[in-house]
Amino acid sequence: MQKLWQHLFNEDTGLGIALTTLFYNSSYQNTYKFVKRTERWTIEQIQRYQWEQLTSLLTHAYEHVPYYRTLFKTQGITPKDIKLLEDFQHLPILGKETIQEHTNEFKATNYPMYAFEETNTGGSTGFALRFSIEKGVWFAKHLAYLKILLEQAGCNVMDKSVQLIGREKTWEYRPFSRTLVLSSYQMTDLNLPRYIKKIRRLQPHYIIGYPSAITMLASSTKQDTMKLERLKAIFCFGETIYDWQREFLETYFSCRVHGQYGHREQCVFAGTCEKSNAYHIFPDYGFVELIDRNGYPITKEGQSGEIVATGFHTGIFPFIRYKTGDIATWSMHPCECGRNYPLLKSIEGRVQDFMVSRTSRLVPLMGVLQLISKSSAHMKEYQLYQEQEGELILNIVKKDGFSKDDARQIKDNIHKRLGDEFSVSLSYTNHIPRTSRGKYQFFVQKLPIKYIV
Ligand SMILES: [Zn+2]
Repeated sequence: MQKLWQHLFNEDTGLGIALTTLFYNSSYQNTYKFVKRTERWTIEQIQRYQWEQLTSLLTHAYEHVPYYRTLFKTQGITPKDIKLLEDFQHLPILGKETIQEHTNEFKATNYPMYAFEETNTGGSTGFALRFSIEKGVWFAKHLAYLKILLEQAGCNVMDKSVQLIGREKTWEYRPFSRTLVLSSYQMTDLNLPRYIKKIRRLQPHYIIGYPSAITMLASSTKQDTMKLERLKAIFCFGETIYDWQREFLETYFSCRVHGQYGHREQCVFAGTCEKSNAYHIFPDYGFVELIDRNGYPITKEGQSGEIVATGFHTGIFPFIRYKTGDIATWSMHPCECGRNYPLLKSIEGRVQDFMVSRTSRLVPLMGVLQLISKSSAHMKEYQLYQEQEGELILNIVKKDGFSKDDARQIKDNIHKRLGDEFSVSLSYTNHIPRTSRGKYQFFVQKLPIKYIV
């Protein structure tokens, strides 16, 4: 997901200008108009539309995409045999490894050569996936959805903004798009007060970035709030937003924290609306399923599953039932905003965010980080690390006053929560390194995790 944003923000022109340039781009215009025209559709209208999209995608894949043609033949079926959603859900789930092995066979043969643009995902999970996108078109369409999410938060594309993202350059002001870009790599004790000063001077309408980076920026001021008169929203992407981060940031900045969720593979895009923190999945962007560990679709609220998605805008390189590696739960309550979009109650993190116990059980990280935070007020930063089943290492950057009592309290609390299936050892360091995209990782899982068995 971060790669997508990285691309958007690395455009020399900046987001606002890119949008202005796109004003006359038909893909952008048509997508935007279509979403606005259909946002009050009933559930039945959405389902009917999605089914039409799915079946036409399957026919296209069968006719023009060698990988899927072979797949259908192996299964002894044609798209005509897929009459119900259950039939569709019997198609195999697509993993990154399969795409990597058959990259060329995923390319649709009815697109001209010049339409193909090679790209790849970030590889923060240790796997950089190479695939093709439709040159010019994917970017334009995606920006249309992005504009809608900005508008839902009361912002617009030419508003002044601060972007806190993984970039080498410490800071840069882009006058045309009225954007101050700050690097999440360079958030040192020396730079943080400078960042704050620059933000105050700009008086942004919104701030966008990784939740961990925005939280770190806010915490560095040692004040409970920051008054930015024009600030309307904080947008977070690229990482799970923990409840404590949302609460902290909303109090600190006195505005709402909005979440956005998507990937460069373009199978799913979702965001929070005017009324709730549930992620509203754009139904015309792709079809989303939550799949449990045994490979069955989840239809009820409360049960976690892996997000498996089929993109409607990626005919050039179709992703059908693609395993995203992210875990989420459904919300079955209609949202007050009146849109009947499928809703994700929470995105709980990546498959790699599970801890593995001594008995090879997957244990969700949720709650454990908060517990560690609460266990000591004398940690500047920390990072949980696992490379052996049942063994956790907690790397800590100490603050003044960190004592043996802090260490004991942390270990006791973790033991109380996780029991004997885990042992934890503490290790002290001066610095927690950031990822290659400049993100702060609270948990590093070195064991390979397979969620759907
Ligand atoms: Zn809503």
